[in-house]
Amino acid sequence: MDFGDAREARDGFHDFAQATVALAVLFGGLAVLFGDLPVLGYQKLHRLGKSFVAFGEFFEAFIDCHWGFGRSPSEYHRPPWSRLSCLQRPDSSGRFPGWACSNVLGSVPAWQAQVPAPQLVCPMTAIPLVDSHCHLDDAQFDADREAAIARARAAGVTTLLAIGTGNGPPDLEAALRLAERYEGFYATVGVHPHDAAKADEPAFARLAELAAHPKVVALGEIGLDYHYDLSPRDVQRRVFARQLELAAAAGKPVAIHTREAWNDTMDILRTQGTRTGIMHCFTGDASQAEQALALGFHLAFGGVLTFPKAESVREAARITPLDRLLIETDCPYLAPVPHRGKRNEPAFLPEIARRLAEVRNTTVDAIAAATSDNFVRCCLPGGPPNG
Ligand SMILES: [Zn+2]
Ligand SMILES: [Zn+2]
Repeated sequence: MDFGDAREARDGFHDFAQATVALAVLFGGLAVLFGDLPVLGYQKLHRLGKSFVAFGEFFEAFIDCHWGFGRSPSEYHRPPWSRLSCLQRPDSSGRFPGWACSNVLGSVPAWQAQVPAPQLVCPMTAIPLVDSHCHLDDAQFDADREAAIARARAAGVTTLLAIGTGNGPPDLEAALRLAERYEGFYATVGVHPHDAAKADEPAFARLAELAAHPKVVALGEIGLDYHYDLSPRDVQRRVFARQLELAAAAGKPVAIHTREAWNDTMDILRTQGTRTGIMHCFTGDASQAEQALALGFHLAFGGVLTFPKAESVREAARITPLDRLLIETDCPYLAPVPHRGKRNEPAFLPEIARRLAEVRNTTVDAIAAATSDNFVRCCLPGGPPNG
């Protein structure tokens, strides 16, 4: 069977399965309406239809993975058949040697549990990815945090930098709680510009203390946000500069948030002599990228890179040297295409890696390898803590 045949067979089967479900629903509807078709009944018909769909999905995924049609994991997340995930990793030759299925999404409604629908998550690359900026402490993950982490790992995202700004002082340990609990997590501590007005002396003292923690690998996200202006601008500038001093004292890099405040951000970074850090969610143009690169910063690209209108951001991503690139989700915000508008999560990071690879005319492997190395160089210069 060549690829064309396989693709056709897959699509054909899928259409057939969908048609079966439509018929089942139609007959089920009639059964409910007239109440007099007792032979199979709506639930049974529906279940039968689902079985066909389940098999169709499995068949599709098998063909895609086996022959490497290169569809992304996210394309298998079509509800409501995304309840199970087959965790597969390619071997060194890029093929998928075996099947290992596990339920990573938690509870399954009873009627669906009777018709398991295996879904494949094929990591886009065998090289582990680093999500250099995520807010998994956010309340939006309260219902499924563990499952989101499992999905991230299934998608090959094995290292995550949890951002510790949370709801602002006095709680400065939002990310550290995750880093202490989950493998592969590192933390930042910091006061977000939105919360600058809440930063008092005890908060700075606590930040200085936490900055020495071995799992705290950077201060952040800190900076200036003149878009929302949730704290007065002079307070934002003062709190930003103060945190740059704390980072310098701790010998740690910084993760910078800057929105509609580029010139002030650069002025403060230059005045403070800050040379190592990450421009998180970089959405500037090529000339701003050059300024940040000249200072010594890494640029982290996120979901915005995938937005149709973000050509100037893609231009910035093109001119950034490979050894200064990072990727991030900034979840739960800024989900990449094709998830735009939904809650973002680390499992969507491969979409960003893929887009970055396209923009730079290289492979996802090359992006994964470079961004992972860069993260270690920038944030873990002494190697991972505890080995
Ligand atoms: Zn931010
Ligand atoms: Zn953020």
